[in-house]
Amino acid sequence: MEKIPVIQDSALDPGMTTDKKPASSGCAQSPARSGKFHVRLTEGRFQNLRRYISWPLLALFFGLVWVELDGHPLLLFSFEHHQIILFGHALSWRDLSLLAGLLIASACLLFFLAVAWGRVWCGFACPQSIWTWLFIRIEDLVEGRANKRARQDLEPLTAHRLARRATKHLLWVFLALATALTFTGYFVPVRELFSQAMQLDLSAAVSGWILIMAGLTYLNAGLVREKICLHACPYARFQGVMFDDHTLTVSYDARRGEPRAHQRKGGDSSGDCIDCQLCVQVCPAGIDIRDGLQAACIDCGACIDACDNVMSKLNRPKGLVRFASEAQLRGMSSRLLRPRLAGYGVAMTLAFAAVLYGFTETTQLLVEIRRDRGSMFRKVDQHTVCNVYQVKVEGYSQEQRFIQVSISGKGDFTLFGRTQIDLTEDSAYWLPYRVCAQNQTQPATELTFTFTGELVSVSKDTTFLTRSF
Ligand code: SF4
Ligand code: SF4
Repeated sequence: MEKIPVIQDSALDPGMTTDKKPASSGCAQSPARSGKFHVRLTEGRFQNLRRYISWPLLALFFGLVWVELDGHPLLLFSFEHHQIILFGHALSWRDLSLLAGLLIASACLLFFLAVAWGRVWCGFACPQSIWTWLFIRIEDLVEGRANKRARQDLEPLTAHRLARRATKHLLWVFLALATALTFTGYFVPVRELFSQAMQLDLSAAVSGWILIMAGLTYLNAGLVREKICLHACPYARFQGVMFDDHTLTVSYDARRGEPRAHQRKGGDSSGDCIDCQLCVQVCPAGIDIRDGLQAACIDCGACIDACDNVMSKLNRPKGLVRFASEAQLRGMSSRLLRPRLAGYGVAMTLAFAAVLYGFTETTQLLVEIRRDRGSMFRKVDQHTVCNVYQVKVEGYSQEQRFIQVSISGKGDFTLFGRTQIDLTEDSAYWLPYRVCAQNQTQPATELTFTFTGELVSVSKDTTFLTRSF
């Protein structure tokens, strides 16, 4: 087996530590550029792929919050009404396990993707990356290309540049506020929220939440960027454990690229890498992919596009930097079917199937019966005894409008209280009921309350008492 040549130095930055391990030695600690650096934008198939993925996701995030179904939001996590509406389907807080299941299924999907294609989630679909690219685009549009910005950083600040910088920060703040308001709209009905925001009539709690969210978005995507991925995201830490020899990740083909040289003289043995540094300049994580697999790399593919463009100009084959597994870099073929990938695939399929099944079994009507603690029973006359109950009824389906309440049990029982509940007026009630029995000789008798709606019928047992215990 041919060994991958070890890269001996990095021309990126004299102060930068160099990871001297070959890619096969696993995921190295990041030798990312320290301090501020400007990300150069590039074009290519992976940048297009990012657009095809991120624009629909952004449209979903900003649009879904406004969509209603039969006058109800499509997606809402309402703390105020103790209700979750997922795709028009109302869940009770008792169905929260479904959300936990959804998280587990999503984690399995993430693990499956990680084993198959490395951190493609991070590079192409993670909100942190999508917002960071948006903020970088705004910066590029307002303040100019990366090399111009880097050059201007060394010059004294002029009024013109100050105005541009202020515009950039204003646009960032605007985007951060729009993000925070939209995100909050998934917890508070969005129309109400926007109307209150326009009239500056938001409660202190909601205002505080929006300001914190906006501040975090501004900091994350505008200022801190790749450091969040490297230092705050746990995924970067355990990715090395998940990868195997056949995981496709963004890799530099050192066998082809080394020894790197600015110019190739006729007949010399230098590799295809001309050490132009473009792959480094476009990297949002500030790393050099030629140093091997690194924890900071989010597999965004920007370095692939940059290098492919260079190779095209030099009339050399593309793919010096490409998605490749360690096996492929060693000249072996990569296996798609392997036990770890199959294991995550099966776990993911089972988890999603369980969640889907769970959605067909969600609570539609929630009922709770409590005996009135103030009086266990009350003798009305020599033959009649009454018990009082507090009954909670909560509806979780928009199709279910009216609930009929009835009782049954061994005895001559009569129900006093509301026998028809209108869930269109309110979705949750606490109602008092009095049940009276004639000539009941048993000290305790089983009594059943039945709640019958258009979709479901729920029965709850309680006891009817004629004396204290
Ligand atoms: S872009 Fe390609 S050629 Fe240029 S330094 Fe990077 S790997 Fe080498
Ligand atoms: S090394 Fe390449 S793939 Fe990794 S984060 Fe940097 S540009 Fe993206």
